[in-house]
Amino acid sequence: MTARFTFDLTATDGMARTGVIHTPRGDIRTPAFMPVGTAATVKAMMPESVAATGADILLGNTYHLMLRPTAERIARLGGLHRFMNWDKPILTDSGGFQVMSLADLRKLTEAGVTFKSHIDGSKHVLSPERSMEIQKLLGSDIVMCFDECPALPADRDRIAESMRLSMRWAQRSRDAFGDRPGHALFGIQQGGLERDFREESAKALTRIGFDGYAVGGLAVGEGQAAMFGCLDFATDMLPRDKPRYLMGVGKPDDIVGAVKRGIDMMDCVLPSRSGRTGQGFTRHGVVNIKNARHADDPRPLDEACTCPACRNYSRAYLHHVFRAQEMISGMLLTWHNLHYFQQIMGEMRDAIAQNRFAAWESGFHAMRAEGDIAPL
Ligand SMILES: [Zn+2]
Repeated sequence: MTARFTFDLTATDGMARTGVIHTPRGDIRTPAFMPVGTAATVKAMMPESVAATGADILLGNTYHLMLRPTAERIARLGGLHRFMNWDKPILTDSGGFQVMSLADLRKLTEAGVTFKSHIDGSKHVLSPERSMEIQKLLGSDIVMCFDECPALPADRDRIAESMRLSMRWAQRSRDAFGDRPGHALFGIQQGGLERDFREESAKALTRIGFDGYAVGGLAVGEGQAAMFGCLDFATDMLPRDKPRYLMGVGKPDDIVGAVKRGIDMMDCVLPSRSGRTGQGFTRHGVVNIKNARHADDPRPLDEACTCPACRNYSRAYLHHVFRAQEMISGMLLTWHNLHYFQQIMGEMRDAIAQNRFAAWESGFHAMRAEGDIAPL
């Protein structure tokens, strides 16, 4: 344990990196996958079960929590860690992305964003200063700068204007965050898929100085090839001695491709959301448990997986509880999916440390290409 936030890069293999982020609330092994606990819960999971899957850190959503139950209420109740019974690190987003995608009647100005709650229509303001205040009230360990992100495709003028606004907001976020030992503030690189704007953004952020750097504005509909093409140059523009975080990614093969390109942290709702819609991620790709082929299948979802869903239950059972809309369906599939994502991260950390990432990656793709096991 340490009282400060530090990052030790322990090994690299090509562009891929492994290391440890030290925080007062515990270590985060990188590359790290962060399950998303949107409304102070990873849906369908007890926090001790999330920890059992191997997660070192969770993500919480500022936008959702500020509206309900409110950051002030969470602060009065001892902060987000105590409120949701999770004592390991928590990263909170700034609310900027979700206010643009979820809120009603948004109005964007230099000062910030005014909007109406999608829950009850109440009026709110988010600005760099208010976002820093909310994330402090929540007690977040890793705080994200308040930024703005245009949906892609967008024209170059719109991307540049938005990126420069985000860089001014990054400075205001830095000023409002102040000096908080043991807590980190991450800057967010913007600039769409444009190399020159990504460079301009990286320079602006590095000049301000942050504890970590996120690649923002990707995974917003541009497709995997375009995202990887951008990461090929965008990641390396960010300081090598700080954690690099790719926001909102992704599917297993997106995650592997991002790690290959030098990303240290990622988050996505996919393993939990898909778990609730009957999709299981396995070494052999995606299994749709609702398909009739599983109805009489006594085999586990993945015979090599050590999660409780695979150790103790058959495909036939998972199929039945999904069809019957029993709550345990989402619970078991979410547990399996989070376990699988964490297993990939662990395998990549080991492979990078042992300088065999390329071989591991070929095996990962070869196994997925085989597809699901044949029906009985
Ligand atoms: Zn499993």
